[in-house]
Amino acid sequence: MAARIIDGKAFAADVRGSVAQHVMKLKKEHDLTPGLAVVLVGEDAASEVYVRNKAKQTLEVGMNSYEHKLPADTTEETLLALIDRLNTDPAVHGILVQLPLPRHLDANLVITAIHPAKDVDGFHISNVGLLASGQKALVPCTPFGCLMLLRNEIGDLRGKTATVIGRSNIVGKPMAQLLLGADCSVTVVHRWSSNIAELVRASDIVVAAVGQPGLIQADWVKPGAVVIDVGINRVPAPDKGEYATKLVGDVQFDEVQKIAGAITPVPGGVGPMTIACLLANTVTACCRANGLPEPTGLTV
Ligand code: NAD
Repeated sequence: MAARIIDGKAFAADVRGSVAQHVMKLKKEHDLTPGLAVVLVGEDAASEVYVRNKAKQTLEVGMNSYEHKLPADTTEETLLALIDRLNTDPAVHGILVQLPLPRHLDANLVITAIHPAKDVDGFHISNVGLLASGQKALVPCTPFGCLMLLRNEIGDLRGKTATVIGRSNIVGKPMAQLLLGADCSVTVVHRWSSNIAELVRASDIVVAAVGQPGLIQADWVKPGAVVIDVGINRVPAPDKGEYATKLVGDVQFDEVQKIAGAITPVPGGVGPMTIACLLANTVTACCRANGLPEPTGLTV
């Protein structure tokens, strides 16, 4: 039987709906509007699209959006001064610095300058440490979105075997921590792992976050497993025209869907969840900053 196709677009719309409801409640009962500041340095075309989408969706759920576009030659001093101002601005509950930064800027230094309570990307070492030690953190948006999809698909994850392919700081590692926190038995594999197929084949849950089109093949996957494809890869699509391209994931979708129990498509799977979780994190940060109860269903 073919796998269930997980509709990340629809699920993300539900998450945004819950965020919007909570924002309305905060406005009505506490005269409080959550605010998200997004900082973009330089003119990277893809980053500009992301930032525009983030601002649009932030406004759509009723939150305030503050966009700060800085030229590519912005100095570290200027950028840190802006972050400092946003850290102390009571109207700003979440700060996101769009990555990658121009080469002359040190991303680690910049992320560390963000107040951990406003670090809605969950990249600050404080939040990384809190997540790793099982404490309340702001959690990176993409793996948080994957966890939401998995919970919606499987329910209780306790005791499940999970393999995360990829160990980046923004996806693979926090994904592994979230799955551990959900009581899964977790394996993390990466570019130097030698027996990936065998490890994946033993897993109830597979999360692929590699950036290699079609790496995960059908005979790697355990029948009935839930497969989450984080990869976004642009490849040629000669059937659509000489120079046409299309987006594909890390999983050989057509083949794996014959074996898996459920699978996310690319596009339309994990992708839409990332911004939805960013908005969820911003509402959570706003509630925490004001000593109010956290929104149900929007935290880990
Ligand atoms: P990254 O390049 O930082 O990390 C890739 C990881 O894959 C590394 O840990 C590396 O060791 C591992 N790897 C490389 N080749 C491998 C191989 N042959 N076998 C096993 N592991 C291998 O990438 P990232 O930032 O974690 O992103 C991964 C993918 O997810 C990319 O395609 C990226 O575009 C996508 N992504 C999507 C979203 C989203 O919103 N859906 C968000 C972030 C990243």
